[in-house]
Amino acid sequence: MITAERKPFDEILELVDGHNKILVAGCDTCVAICLTGGEKEAEILASELRMKAQADGREVEVEHTAAIRQCEWEYLDMIAAKVDEADVVLSMACGIGIQSMAEKFAPKLVVPAVNTNMLGMPQEHAVWLERCGACGECVIGETAGICPVVRCSKSLMNGPCGGSHDGKCEVTTPEKEDIDCAWHLIWERLKAQGREELMHKIRPPKDWSKSSSGGPRKMVKEEAKPV
Ligand code: SF4
Ligand code: SF4
Repeated sequence: MITAERKPFDEILELVDGHNKILVAGCDTCVAICLTGGEKEAEILASELRMKAQADGREVEVEHTAAIRQCEWEYLDMIAAKVDEADVVLSMACGIGIQSMAEKFAPKLVVPAVNTNMLGMPQEHAVWLERCGACGECVIGETAGICPVVRCSKSLMNGPCGGSHDGKCEVTTPEKEDIDCAWHLIWERLKAQGREELMHKIRPPKDWSKSSSGGPRKMVKEEAKPV
């Protein structure tokens, strides 16, 4: 799923500064599951904004709503009336949902209340792990289902590097202690699968033009288009 974290409250306040009718819009799909931007979180943020306005002696109307998915315009029709009434929409969806709102309701001001951070896999309650960078050319068929693009700190296509030690990666930071070496994990799983020979395959440099660094991408499924 796409994961996101709420922006610091001060940053949110700056984004809505000077506006007196604010709509906090949640999205009830990925960001709701990752406990960041669903209807419940939208309601909480709306309350915080109301309390802040009251404390500052300002008259500000703050409403909240949520779309099933902000990234799909069909669902935005259901919240259009509320959007219409607002001076500014504070979207709690991922970056796709926010831009979808901004495009659908242009020139309405739509600003982000969250920072979209990764494509993550739930590990346990309230913990998500990055598992895919949407690189556009998936290689995990040869790497035992482990993504070297996001799980190797250097995104190496041929590993491990000399920084792999006892199964751990040399790249550590206070937030990222004891990162497993992705290529060590790949080796262990390839062995378990009896496919060790794949470790000796030399992979060419990755074609990053197929990733977002090659410019915005577009996906079209001709066969699914109406005739
Ligand atoms: S190789 Fe690319 S598409 Fe496959 S999991 Fe990794 S980032 Fe995602
Ligand atoms: S130690 Fe492993 S995970 Fe870390 S950069 Fe080297 S190959 Fe990648």
